[in-house]
Amino acid sequence: MTTDPDCLFCKIAVGDIPAEIVARGTHSLAFRDVAPKAPTHVLVIPAEHIGSLAELAADHTELLADLVGVANQVAVDEKLTGGYRVVTNVGPDAGQSVPHLLLHVLGGRGLGWPPG
Ligand SMILES: [Zn+2]
Repeated sequence: MTTDPDCLFCKIAVGDIPAEIVARGTHSLAFRDVAPKAPTHVLVIPAEHIGSLAELAADHTELLADLVGVANQVAVDEKLTGGYRVVTNVGPDAGQSVPHLLLHVLGGRGLGWPPG
């Protein structure tokens, strides 16, 4: 498994930086955003360093299924019965601030569409 020693999310994945972990999969982990943008805001990342969705390849099928599975499990655990949003940002124009693939799981009342 590839990790980047300079990557914030890799440091969280290996435990060098603490985070409030709320779920784990075979290849992924989920933790609360420290600056939530919704009543529930959990980040789901692969433990392996992958720069963004754009870097996913055919051999990431199992990892991607695990990542999405953890996101859905978070929604169940957080009791997001009214609905939730799963978002990933690719690149600076989309607001990706850490170059490591992540899914935002956003839930709770007040989620507009399209997002503001
Ligand atoms: Zn990383």
